[in-house]
Amino acid sequence: MRRNEKHPESQMLSLGYQADKHLGAVKCPLFLTSTFAFKTAEEGKAFFELAYGLREKAKGEEMGMIYSRVDNPNLHLAEQRLAVWDGGEDAAFFSSGMAAISTMLLTFLKPGDLLIYGAPVYGGTDHFINHVLPDFGVDVFQFTAKDDFNGIKNRLEKDYPHRYPAFIFTEIPGNPTNALIDIEMCNRLATDLSRDGKRPLLAVDNTFLGPLFQHPLKWGADISVYSATKFIGGHSDLLAGACVGRGDLITKIKGMRTFLGSMLDPHSCWLILRSLETLKIRMERQAASAQKVAGHLKDHPLVEKVHYLGFLADDDPQKVIFDKQCLSAGSMIAFEVNGGEQAAFAFLNHLHHFKLAVSLGSTESLAEHPATMTHVDVMASDRQLFGITDGLVRLSIGVEEPEDLIEDIDQALAAMMVSRSSKL
Ligand code: PLP
Repeated sequence: MRRNEKHPESQMLSLGYQADKHLGAVKCPLFLTSTFAFKTAEEGKAFFELAYGLREKAKGEEMGMIYSRVDNPNLHLAEQRLAVWDGGEDAAFFSSGMAAISTMLLTFLKPGDLLIYGAPVYGGTDHFINHVLPDFGVDVFQFTAKDDFNGIKNRLEKDYPHRYPAFIFTEIPGNPTNALIDIEMCNRLATDLSRDGKRPLLAVDNTFLGPLFQHPLKWGADISVYSATKFIGGHSDLLAGACVGRGDLITKIKGMRTFLGSMLDPHSCWLILRSLETLKIRMERQAASAQKVAGHLKDHPLVEKVHYLGFLADDDPQKVIFDKQCLSAGSMIAFEVNGGEQAAFAFLNHLHHFKLAVSLGSTESLAEHPATMTHVDVMASDRQLFGITDGLVRLSIGVEEPEDLIEDIDQALAAMMVSRSSKL
């Protein structure tokens, strides 16, 4: 960090905004406007020429606002600030995480292309990759955290002889089991699978740990993609998505966004600006609480297995990846109870404090059942392969006092036991 460059958490309070240009308003006002008046017709013409890439910017020329589907001051500021956390040149916000993922993939894939992706991924992403993209003529190849560099290459050559992927998509850690894929290995794969000087782009869905605890761009990814509904928004009160990365790639994605109309609205951007100010303290607090909750689950006699990044054994290859690319274990925990769906449902139905809801990364703690909820549409054989069992429960830890969460878990596990014995 250079001397005059402030830490990201400090930049969230000031970067890109000048109060004296807005009647001294300390916070950026909310620009609820669909369109922007041009000073002259010539100015309107110039803005459109730049927006459509019809000519390069002249020296000192500034692009102005045209229409809120293209840009808006709240959108612009939120994007400038998000890019800082990931060390990206630019960022783009979308109306949801799925809007970010689908807009990004549609920007870079065309009929006849091959997409390779690291699984498991969020159920909606899995559906888009396996059920929507093939209808647009895109072939799909899957690998998992268990595959290594040579394994992926050999199987790819067997399934798609002499084919080179146009895009590599991964979600790290994978939802819901926290499976880790080595980003640096994916970067080597992208280089190795280049053809005629064309390297496949590498995107990492960084929702679970980012943008604080994992920086995919640092390890060779071209784009970090997010459900900003989660930690970035952080309060379960908005839907949003984002891409962060190299300027030229984000410009292309924004071009597609303009025509799909998948940008984020000004009010949600304004809320995101608030959320970015507390991102670090929220995520750090959530991670510290998750460590306590996971520790308790690990020692609980009614819990079979805990998927939490803080518990990887020293001889586990996942630990090497964790130590290299993750700065914290984060606040997502999945655990298995004995007794399948019935036991998992009994546990979930008896929680008082945790909300029984999908989503994650918010101030309140949430619990859900991946096999019948977020990942219900994933093929049963894939669910088995990824360890998404019927007894698996996913927890997202919020900012509450961890002792209260542990007490809630204990009483729900005890009630689960009672309901199981009464059914015997
Ligand atoms: N990526 C991950 C890892 C997710 O967990 C989700 C949603 O749960 C998404 C993407 C999709 O985001 P959204 O619900 O904001 O469309």
